[in-house]
Amino acid sequence: MSDIYISRGKFPEIIGQLMARYRVYAPVLKGEYHEFAKIEKTEEADLGYQNTRLSPKGLFHPHAERMFEYSLVKDDPQAGILKEAPKDFSPRVVLGIRPCDAKAFQLDDVNFDTTAYQDPWWVRRRQTTTLIGLACNEPCGTCFCTSLGTGPFDTAGLDVLLVDTGEGYTAQVLTQKGKDVVGITSGWESVSRTVSEKMEGLRKSAEDSLGRQFDFDPIKQKDMLELFNASFWDEVQFACINCGTCTFLCPTCWCFDIQDEVWGDKGDRIRLWDSCMFPLFTFHGSGHNPRSQKLQRVRQRFMHKLKYYPDKYHNGAACVGCGRCVKFCPVNIDIREVVRRMSATCVCPA
Ligand code: SF4
Ligand code: SF4
Repeated sequence: MSDIYISRGKFPEIIGQLMARYRVYAPVLKGEYHEFAKIEKTEEADLGYQNTRLSPKGLFHPHAERMFEYSLVKDDPQAGILKEAPKDFSPRVVLGIRPCDAKAFQLDDVNFDTTAYQDPWWVRRRQTTTLIGLACNEPCGTCFCTSLGTGPFDTAGLDVLLVDTGEGYTAQVLTQKGKDVVGITSGWESVSRTVSEKMEGLRKSAEDSLGRQFDFDPIKQKDMLELFNASFWDEVQFACINCGTCTFLCPTCWCFDIQDEVWGDKGDRIRLWDSCMFPLFTFHGSGHNPRSQKLQRVRQRFMHKLKYYPDKYHNGAACVGCGRCVKFCPVNIDIREVVRRMSATCVCPA
């Protein structure tokens, strides 16, 4: 299917047509920051946003999710039996997602949707969601997606890619799901040569503004133990306060904890995001903690993203360069600098 175009003035009609058939999630301004939320009115969708502070991973892996519920009523024959808590898997469109965040879902799939194990809720949400991306014309100063194999106009993981050309939007339809969604909307035109040239100019300008900020390839050749034992971790970890902000905002951090909460004679089994930056994350029932030191936790975060994941899955780094952890770390720890230090670690002769 060739690229199609719609003028800015007609775009709200497209959103309205989508809302008539799907649950539509879009970037919505809440307080100072945008976040992805279900919209009830077309004007709630704000595609003029730069990026959300919190990544949209919660659309598939909610921050706190009731997995099961159970009764604790005495003499209830169903007491203690886990029942799946109600969940909504009706068809959904996520509108305006950035290419880096869509790529992150693909990186996370290796954890939630494998041949050996499938997380049923992640899988169903992925199956029933259509991702309509929005290219980044003006990436943030902390973005570095082009250094990790993706880019501001990348299509990986998307069903449709929109480009804001000023007077309107072009749409590149990439999958059958994308075709189905675009097929229920009307008002599109073919892309003129002027619009096409403008789109190409926007892509080049966005990619050039990011440049290539580091070379990730040397890390792949490094010995894992050599990196693990490198002396620079002491400097990297020094300022970290283990607040967990980096992991909670990150689209490729998927760690969670499962807890039972009891409310009188009812109980819920809840899955909650957790973080390798927290001391309790690895605290064993025996009292032993294999990562009791801050250095061990900071090293784990970076080694997992930049060495363990790439070596295990041969799928690139577990980082898409969205820059959230760089922008919001309260003590300015910068993963780009850590990549440079890991890349530069010498392979010392035995
Ligand atoms: S955001 Fe910064 S200070 Fe907080 S845990 Fe992450 S690296 Fe440490
Ligand atoms: S590690 Fe940082 S830059 Fe990379 S995907 Fe996570 S939040 Fe974004």
